[in-house]
Amino acid sequence: SAKKLGRNTFQFYQPEMNDEAQERLRIESALRNALERNEFVLHYQPQVDLESGAIVGMEALLRWQHPELGMVPPARFIGLAEETGLIVPIGAWVLRTACLQARALQDAGFSGLRMAVNLSARQFAQPELVSTIAAVLEETGLPPAALELELTESLFMHDVAQGVHLLHELKSLGVALSIDDFGTGYSSLSYLRNFPIDVLKIDRSFVNDIATDADDAAIVVSVIALAHNLGLRVIAEGVESEEQLEFLRRHGCNEIQGYYFSRPVEAGAFQQMLQDGKQLVCGGPRRLRA
Ligand code: C2E
Ligand code: MG
Ligand code: MG
Ligand code: MG
Repeated sequence: SAKKLGRNTFQFYQPEMNDEAQERLRIESALRNALERNEFVLHYQPQVDLESGAIVGMEALLRWQHPELGMVPPARFIGLAEETGLIVPIGAWVLRTACLQARALQDAGFSGLRMAVNLSARQFAQPELVSTIAAVLEETGLPPAALELELTESLFMHDVAQGVHLLHELKSLGVALSIDDFGTGYSSLSYLRNFPIDVLKIDRSFVNDIATDADDAAIVVSVIALAHNLGLRVIAEGVESEEQLEFLRRHGCNEIQGYYFSRPVEAGAFQQMLQDGKQLVCGGPRRLRA
């Protein structure tokens, strides 16, 4: 028994851990083959401008449709893809597919839309990142300004100077840069001053209770003011209700993304939304112009 092994020894065998380890192994080996087997798909979630109500962009979100495991959400495999380095080829596929899709939408007459793509820490640490992105832009013919790269605060934890250098290189391609999940990571306000970023995305966890929690409301209002004072655009993530939407509109948030307007959808459904001219419907006349 564990007791016999002494006070400071942990018992190793735990059935749940074993299951978890096996599940991990299973996912890892399946992940290795997922690209060649064409099991990945991107869904697109609209980003809507709060002044015009129009769709102005979209975020590409990775989905893994495994024949036996079913639909595996990113939360269950992105971490593993990071650890194994598989995120590098997967991330390159995401970039290329998203840029092709953005280009196809432009060719269909929907120009001026931005395509946001998530970058992982591992990709960010790749020396080839900038040339990969340049090659994808060249190959797809997508104007660089139509591509927005979403980065998280954790990417800069290790080497801030190197991170800043890389951001400048990325900016010189002409793409836009945003900070995703803003406020949840290692947050230092000094980087907002030094980093050539264009957009802050307020994390869903702050948006969730803005209508009822005074602290969260205060944080969101402050982040919007901070972004605007620094000349950045601000997007609120995870907007699910009219109350949240109205709060954000009242406080001058530029754009929203969330289930209230639309869940992430397949490419065809996204294009259909554009064709239908789907817009954000506002609850009554706009306050400031009444
Ligand atoms: P994220 O980049 O912050 O993406 C937003 C997540 O919030 C998405 O989850 C989206 O479906 C979800 N979401 C959007 N609106 C709402 C809402 O109103 N309510 C709620 N409850 N959720 C909402 P998803 O697609 O499961 O992705 C989770 C995370 O996985 C992403 O968070 C991102 O960090 C990562 N991820 C997704 N695709 C990629 C990718 O291509 N590459 C990398 N490196 N990471 C990715
Ligand atoms: Mg994101
Ligand atoms: Mg986010
Ligand atoms: Mg709170």
